[in-house]
Amino acid sequence: MTKRRNDHGSEEPRRLDRRSVLRAAAATGAFGGLASAAWPMGSLGARAFTPLAPGLKTERVVLVVMAGGVRSRETFGSPNQIPNLVQMAREGTLFTRLRTANLGHFGASMSIFTGISEARGIRDNTRAPDPTLFEYIRKDLGLASNEVWVTTAGGAQQVNYSYGLHPEYGARFGATILDGDGIFNEEFKGLVQRYGVPRPLDDERADQVRELRRTLRGDRGGRDEGRVAEARARVESYILSELGRGVTEMRGAGAGDAKALRLARNLLSVFKPKLIGVVLQDADIAHGSFNGYSEVVRRADAGIGELLETIRGDETLRDSTAVMVLPEFGRDKDLNARRGLDHGDGSDDLRFVHGAVWGPDFKRGKVVKDDHRTIDMTPTIAHLFGAKAKFSKGSVMKAALG
Ligand SMILES: [Zn+2]
Repeated sequence: MTKRRNDHGSEEPRRLDRRSVLRAAAATGAFGGLASAAWPMGSLGARAFTPLAPGLKTERVVLVVMAGGVRSRETFGSPNQIPNLVQMAREGTLFTRLRTANLGHFGASMSIFTGISEARGIRDNTRAPDPTLFEYIRKDLGLASNEVWVTTAGGAQQVNYSYGLHPEYGARFGATILDGDGIFNEEFKGLVQRYGVPRPLDDERADQVRELRRTLRGDRGGRDEGRVAEARARVESYILSELGRGVTEMRGAGAGDAKALRLARNLLSVFKPKLIGVVLQDADIAHGSFNGYSEVVRRADAGIGELLETIRGDETLRDSTAVMVLPEFGRDKDLNARRGLDHGDGSDDLRFVHGAVWGPDFKRGKVVKDDHRTIDMTPTIAHLFGAKAKFSKGSVMKAALG
């Protein structure tokens, strides 16, 4: 490995590893500017971030929606199958009766993100007429798009979760979407295409990056600014490689969900964004295979465990990050003719799910047996951030708040 002398006279490796990038970033203040200036697509968030709601400690939230449909019998009814969720519930609050909003896949998850029972004809592959959680948070807090993300397992259709069509909100406040198979956000996609697969910057590449930075941000040049721009570019390039780390090689039943959870974990450790929605999908294999479905649930639990481990092990995240997990709905009471599980019998197994919330503002070891609703998640998260989910029909889940 070649070494070079940096401006402070010490030697540092030229390779683009975590330490050198972070050091370069710190030296130039690049991380401080990352949320706005350094990340070109993020320039929209002009207002300063309002840090916390009074008296609350939560600074960021990960909301995991087990779309695809999972019964309580296979989650908290089978604790051996979900050791990480059980542990999470022990350290947080468990809701045993969350009434689901809608019994179609797409509308049910959409309802969780809008806080409205989207009964009024949400068709597949259209956006909601209502604002999503992501838009509320970005607009009210003045956040750039790199602060609010959705990672998905379900492909193109789930792109619609990133924002709705409400005139006061919409695309300009949407979440950035990351999918195990690619990045859907157009601006972000452009960035990846320009930077390509990150590697140590050779001279030609560094020139290209500098040129790009100038074009994107209107940098005026100057020695110091050039150095800052280069450091920022390296940070961005590094981030792109970190986001995809360990994702592409995932295979088998539940791989889509595992990827979505891994992306969320990578995002958290690299970016520490304010809000990440994770949309799983693979449990719907249950229509044809109960065993496959059980495996998907176990794998999702393992992915959630990794996410929690990352948070517990990171000083910045540990005492300021909330995780909330719930299925979009359950499944039928009885097996179908293929020995699978559909979702259409109207039973309580279908209409009620368990959900767990964990974080610095949630009660520990509390079990709430009263009815709540899956649409309560959005106003609850908005509340944690001191934002308002103005059009949501859900309620803040006060039973979980300390
Ligand atoms: Zn289904």
